[in-house]
Amino acid sequence: MRTRSMPAFSSALSGWATAAALILRSSLCLLPAVPTGCIATPDPLPRYMQDAPRTEEEVRRAIEEIRGELGDGFIIDHIDGIFFLAADGGVDEYRRCRATIERMYRFLMRDFFEKRPGKPIRIYCFREADGYERYCKATYRRPPSTPFGFYMPAERKMVMNIATGTGTLAHETVHPLLAEDFPTVPSWFNEGFASLYEQSRQTVDERMEGLVNWRLKGLKEALKEGRAIPLEELLKTSSKEFYDETRGVNYATARYLCKWLQDQDKLKPFYRQFRAAADRDPTGRAVLEKVTGMSVEKMDRVWRAWVLALK
Ligand SMILES: [Zn+2]
Repeated sequence: MRTRSMPAFSSALSGWATAAALILRSSLCLLPAVPTGCIATPDPLPRYMQDAPRTEEEVRRAIEEIRGELGDGFIIDHIDGIFFLAADGGVDEYRRCRATIERMYRFLMRDFFEKRPGKPIRIYCFREADGYERYCKATYRRPPSTPFGFYMPAERKMVMNIATGTGTLAHETVHPLLAEDFPTVPSWFNEGFASLYEQSRQTVDERMEGLVNWRLKGLKEALKEGRAIPLEELLKTSSKEFYDETRGVNYATARYLCKWLQDQDKLKPFYRQFRAAADRDPTGRAVLEKVTGMSVEKMDRVWRAWVLALK
């Protein structure tokens, strides 16, 4: 387990040097094989959260259990009996968080995913870094390793510092849904696809469109300085390799590969064919070459030029 002190989000955006450090050091989520955050010994999933509530009584009980854990001061409700959202920043903030989850959930289930989650997912949104850190220390006996928030797959729980914005909430909402729909998804796509929505907008036809964000600057520098990971290598990374010390570049490369596909309307066909062919093509390389009509070597050249021209 590694813990790090992380720069605050606002200061991270105040200068290139700090932003670059953030890109190289930050990780937005936790996966069981790579305990990079505030997890110490995960608590077992509470009995009441092991199955989706079927009755109003079960929903009420789940909400009361969460209230018992978090105490007063939280608005707690559910979305479709799947997401149990708790937030302590008042009604407007609660609505903002809820709208982010609902937008992502509707879009992903309509355009990408086929399987609905069968078990509840808890989402705890803290209005300030203090409350977020206090919760992590009290629950996991460790400070969080990221200032933004994370997802704990074993507990099916997201813990968010919502003072940093709702981008991380959109990112983390992808993980439990993607895990349900595509259990063997490799880390490069899991994180590239999730991080695409950190900065996104809703289109008129209610799609979510990933936009350029803070990860671009560090990616361009890495490409120019020869520190970038070739796409061929990215696709082959194991989870351990993806989340190692160069994970900042790996996240950015995966995100902008997904954005490149999205901008050509190829992300959805890629995902569906990748999921269907994952037994034969676990890295996605063959499907990527088929969907784009080019070898991964050529793709690397075309994609790099596209990234370097992005603003
Ligand atoms: Zn993530």
